[in-house]
Amino acid sequence: MIVVMKAGASQQQIDHVIERIEQLGLRSHVIVGTERTVVAAVGEKRDGAKQALETAAGVEQVVPILAPYKIASIEVKKERTIVEAQRLKVGGGHIGVIAGPCSVESREQILEVAHVVKAAGAEGLRGGAFKPRTSPYSFQGLKEKGLELLAEARAATGLAVVTEVMAPEQVKLVARYADVLQVGARNMQNYPLLEAVGEAGRPVLLKRGASATMDEFLLAAEYILNTGNTQVMLCERGIRTFEDHTRYTLPLASVPYLHQKTHLPVVIDPSHGTGKASLVAPMAVAAVAVKADGLIVEIHPDPEKAWSDGYQSLTPAAFQQMMAECCRVAEAVGLKM
Ligand code: PEP
Ligand code: MN
Repeated sequence: MIVVMKAGASQQQIDHVIERIEQLGLRSHVIVGTERTVVAAVGEKRDGAKQALETAAGVEQVVPILAPYKIASIEVKKERTIVEAQRLKVGGGHIGVIAGPCSVESREQILEVAHVVKAAGAEGLRGGAFKPRTSPYSFQGLKEKGLELLAEARAATGLAVVTEVMAPEQVKLVARYADVLQVGARNMQNYPLLEAVGEAGRPVLLKRGASATMDEFLLAAEYILNTGNTQVMLCERGIRTFEDHTRYTLPLASVPYLHQKTHLPVVIDPSHGTGKASLVAPMAVAAVAVKADGLIVEIHPDPEKAWSDGYQSLTPAAFQQMMAECCRVAEAVGLKM
């Protein structure tokens, strides 16, 4: 339910509503809007809860939340969520660009890429230190050493570090180095992990599972939001279909669809979404045209020699070109980059 407070309701009245919600065995999430405050009451449905809250002082109305996800729903919060970390800003009319290698490989590699990313005007540096690989025999990441190198690249450039965390027990370590915790597609429904990244108090980039529906995706985000962490970005990275000309199928309709259903910013990953370097820039440009809030792109100084995902990684020059094209389209659709 959403408890809509009257315009000008006092803090005391809001506190009383929160207390009543908790007495009813529900959780409260306060959203302070420009005009009025709303308090979302989430949890198992309780008989009589609506009536109990309707009679509290300062309450204008109590309305049910129709979507299965609650705090993520646009019904609860009309104003768009903006996610910020270091110089990275995603949402609210600003397209945040995160770029970097699939995996952190060496000090030279990550520092070189970080300078390319910054020079091209992007604000976030990606790079996996803990890698979820399909085969156990593939490179698994430099682990803590990779995190240290990412932190060094941040110190040199001011870019926000975005890196994946694969297990709840790794969250503390990764959060010590990262500005944004990435939950990968394979872990979208790892509920203990979602709760752990929520509690880490860092912004989260949640990737859509390759076979997840939109409701499942939003309910996964709900797990993070339910910990009280409001800084969640949804990342469309492509889904599994019958099609095999691309690695995954990248549904760009996810952007306007999610914008209709949630206040959370939507980031597009054209690298995993296509799996082909030649398709990355066109899809990045298209993502900007449909008003994505952010992009996450794999780049490598020498894609042929990359330890993972080289075939979908852009060269520095191709990335600069992609950024220039995206900027032109962003301006045309009224967004900043
Ligand atoms: C990645 O970002 O390198 C990655 C493994 O992505 P995904 O979880 O979308 O497959
Ligand atoms: Mn990758």
